[in-house]
Amino acid sequence: MATNGAGILNVAIIGAGPAGYYTAEALTGGAREVHVDIIDRLPTPFGLIRAGVAPDHQSIKNVSRRYEATNKRENVRFVGNLSLGRDITLAELRELYDAVVLATGAGKDRPLGIDGEKLTGVIGSASFVGWYNAHPDYKDLKPDLRVASVAVIGNGNVALDVARVLAKTASEMANSDLADHAAGTIHGAPIRDIHILGRRGPLDASFTPKELGELNQLENCVTLVDRAQLPDESLDASLSGAAKKNMATLRAIATNKPDAKPVRLHLQFYRRPMAILGDSCVCGIRLEETRVENGTCVGTGVTEVLPAGLVVPCIGYRTSPIPDVPYSERYGCFENDGGRISNGLYCVGWAKRGPTGTIGTNKPDGAEVAEKILQEVSPSGKTGRDGLDHIIRERDLHIVTFQNWKKIEANEEASAHSGAPRKKLVDVSEMVRIAES
Ligand code: NAP
Repeated sequence: MATNGAGILNVAIIGAGPAGYYTAEALTGGAREVHVDIIDRLPTPFGLIRAGVAPDHQSIKNVSRRYEATNKRENVRFVGNLSLGRDITLAELRELYDAVVLATGAGKDRPLGIDGEKLTGVIGSASFVGWYNAHPDYKDLKPDLRVASVAVIGNGNVALDVARVLAKTASEMANSDLADHAAGTIHGAPIRDIHILGRRGPLDASFTPKELGELNQLENCVTLVDRAQLPDESLDASLSGAAKKNMATLRAIATNKPDAKPVRLHLQFYRRPMAILGDSCVCGIRLEETRVENGTCVGTGVTEVLPAGLVVPCIGYRTSPIPDVPYSERYGCFENDGGRISNGLYCVGWAKRGPTGTIGTNKPDGAEVAEKILQEVSPSGKTGRDGLDHIIRERDLHIVTFQNWKKIEANEEASAHSGAPRKKLVDVSEMVRIAES
């Protein structure tokens, strides 16, 4: 194998999402000669921008242009369709590169830990969002949406995304990149009631004002909240920031009439899930009323059953563990010290800090980890990309370069429905065929 000049720092980043790209940008933006390979198991770059951000939030997806600019740097490469564990091991990558950065996100659902969680019709947000966003892993999910009532558990932005995507009409989604298979299922569904269930109160919710406001502007769906669940109006003057804006929106929502539109979206606070009910398929959810004491939800012992044919827990995510990499069960991410896992092994983004923060949070996070690597790791003459290319040839791996991803992108844009930005491909082998054409 060829060895690179000892002056080049070779870094492999696993995961081509925002955290990976911001780290690559920071690593390659200075005076040091750094070569970065951004490796992803999918043939497509941009991670959550493509498969996590809601399909009707296209403006957020524009940030991928910045990642594309990073990828245009001569010393940054995208290596798609190369899977850690399947095609190459972490030990092999650590042999090839001076530093390896795990930017693998948090792709697994946190469990609810209650009875009935495994029933058909209980679909965690990682799978459900992946399905409507055309993630190849979830293309065959086929959720049964022939239901009248849906329970969405959680009071974060993911819960609002899921409820909104279910509530919007085909015309409201016309400018989105909602997966074709999901559009057919969602827009033909007889859903009449969508319940967003928060275990604490309105002031404890983690959703943000813009996302809450969108729920009060739906064409076919009226959003409702019980005025009695909102704090006394005299409190409003003491609120600031997001809480103040959210409260103003909730007070406006509280004036909506249930029969104003055919579909109803119910914001229900102070309800925690006790059990999901059903024989083989879900038919409802048992909830306990709660009150909040010192920020914590406490059960009152009063329970009720909410009928629901689909339950979507949106209660946060976990990073998938990797053999031999220390993992924090408590936080659902890798054990690390400011991004450092061990000598030459780092993590960034949700794999480092758990599933919190917006896309933009990854910028300072990536810069911090890049700085740590630049301070702690010296070039050691490892083979870097030459060594990886050797393994790719030897194993006859069909990787997708950034240039070839652009062919996939062009295909998706050319086949988009009128008004839509793209029609996403969902099949990896078809993507690879187009990339290699
Ligand atoms: P999140 O904001 O942490 O919300 C999780 C929700 O689940 C919380 O309301 C939490 O309640 C609740 N929860 C947790 N465990 C529960 C349980 N056992 N039973 C009932 N409820 C439970 O997480 P997320 O919505 O998954 O979002 C992840 C991150 O992505 C967030 O930082 C979010 O802002 C970001 N994001 C942003 C956008 C956007 O900017 N448009 C869109 C999507 C996601 P407690 O608060 O009581 O724990």
